[in-house]
Amino acid sequence: MNYVPPSPSADTDAFPFDNSFARLPQQFFARVDPTPVAEPWLIKLNRPLAEELGLDIGTLERDGAQIFSGNSVPAGAAPLAMAYAGHQFGTFVPQLGDGRAILLGEVIDRNGRRRDIQLKGPGQTPFSRRGDGRAALGPVLREYIVSEAMHALGIPATRALAAVVTGQPVYREQILPGAVFTRVAASHIRVGTFQFFAARGDMASVQALADYAIDRHYPDAKNDERPYLAFFKAVVARQAALIARWLHVGFIHGVMNTDNMTISGETIDFGPCAFMDAYDPKKVFSSIDQFGRYAYASQPAIGQWNLTRLAETLVPLFDPVAATAVDLANDVLGEYGAIFQRHWLDGMRRKIGIVGEEEGDLDLVQALLTAMHQGEADFTLTFRKLCASAADPAADAALASLFAAPAGLTTWLSDWRKRLAREPGASDERASAMRAVNPAFIPRNHRIEQAIVAATGEADFSLFEALVDVTSRPYEDQPRFAAYADPPQPEEEVQQTFCGT
Ligand code: AMP
Ligand code: MG
Repeated sequence: MNYVPPSPSADTDAFPFDNSFARLPQQFFARVDPTPVAEPWLIKLNRPLAEELGLDIGTLERDGAQIFSGNSVPAGAAPLAMAYAGHQFGTFVPQLGDGRAILLGEVIDRNGRRRDIQLKGPGQTPFSRRGDGRAALGPVLREYIVSEAMHALGIPATRALAAVVTGQPVYREQILPGAVFTRVAASHIRVGTFQFFAARGDMASVQALADYAIDRHYPDAKNDERPYLAFFKAVVARQAALIARWLHVGFIHGVMNTDNMTISGETIDFGPCAFMDAYDPKKVFSSIDQFGRYAYASQPAIGQWNLTRLAETLVPLFDPVAATAVDLANDVLGEYGAIFQRHWLDGMRRKIGIVGEEEGDLDLVQALLTAMHQGEADFTLTFRKLCASAADPAADAALASLFAAPAGLTTWLSDWRKRLAREPGASDERASAMRAVNPAFIPRNHRIEQAIVAATGEADFSLFEALVDVTSRPYEDQPRFAAYADPPQPEEEVQQTFCGT
């Protein structure tokens, strides 16, 4: 079955919807409307994103609370909950689906890209199981802050269009204010979406989904002699590149289940995610990740594990001869490590100001990471301060002050400078190139926590606003916000993060 792009909607209301997923066969989703809430109030509207999507700003400013709470469904929407399955912490769950999310529909943005607009926390759907379909304010703010920060860092991620409080409590371990988050994504197709149909032996649907995903995300694959293999290869390449980018900024996703891995290559589901402060490759934040399955340095391998699960769903489409199909899949999976390593090392080279390539670069990068680990140095600040050291060795003292034990760093700096001597370009140009890849500001976990506490306790959104603002320009020195670059004081440190459930 081939996906045929629908003709543009005649609707000229606030949202120029053009819904293609809703035209897929009925087993792909359940049509369901949001459940109205008592007293919605708009916390934040992302105006630049709304403009990029071609939405009517006037309407959103007037009716945003009603629209983004789900109380008023905009004309042209086709609200639905998507079906998907997934491996959660390695265990397969044949049916998950949008239990607390409803896709309103799709728009074609100003750049001609099709984007999903989805409400998170709008009430129950047929996939809610025992859940209430609701979201608490804290996770909504965390997702808003982190997804926008990832985008500003230049890392593919779903976006935050709006956040509202509902005026209704949600019941978790405590009673918390309810909220709804509006997420924008290239699409919400996940590895788990393929698994949903494969687990049912419904290969026709797997193929229909693959055709849809190819049309939407990888149209070039259609010209390949093996379109489904080319599609799989492209997904593998995007995920390898994405996970390398996470490592470059110290990001820990926290819940890399196969239902939380997109086909488009965007980071999705900012549940228990966090950026690490002191460098530790084994770092875990998520309260539910007891065995460190999704630790910082385990993420590349987990990416490959998840992609192997995707391959298992697609293999019959690769070749009619099973053995050949499996060989083809294994060849592609076998390339993952090298693709990841190339992206990772390229990015790490740039972080330390190297544009050329030498044999010893990997060891040089690894030696810095070892010194950082031993010195318990802050990941983000080490690289940011290294930019100043690239321009002037007088800055080394400030860099060394980040290290509990600076001996390893001192040796490393001298090796680094020998390597830089073989690089082209002036040192101040190198320093500014490094500043463009080493952020000064990331949404530090203790800052997120402070913003959530103020918003939840006192309905004070000023810390949330400030954090969104400062992390929207991560590579600029913003002296006014200097304190936001600092790691937590010991008493501010946050050891655990929680899922939105
Ligand atoms: P997540 O941990 O966000 O990846 O969600 C895993 C699964 O649990 C998905 O199928 C969600 O839709 C579902 N889920 C999480 N929270 C809720 C909730 N409050 N109500 C209903 N379903 C939920
Ligand atoms: Mg999820």
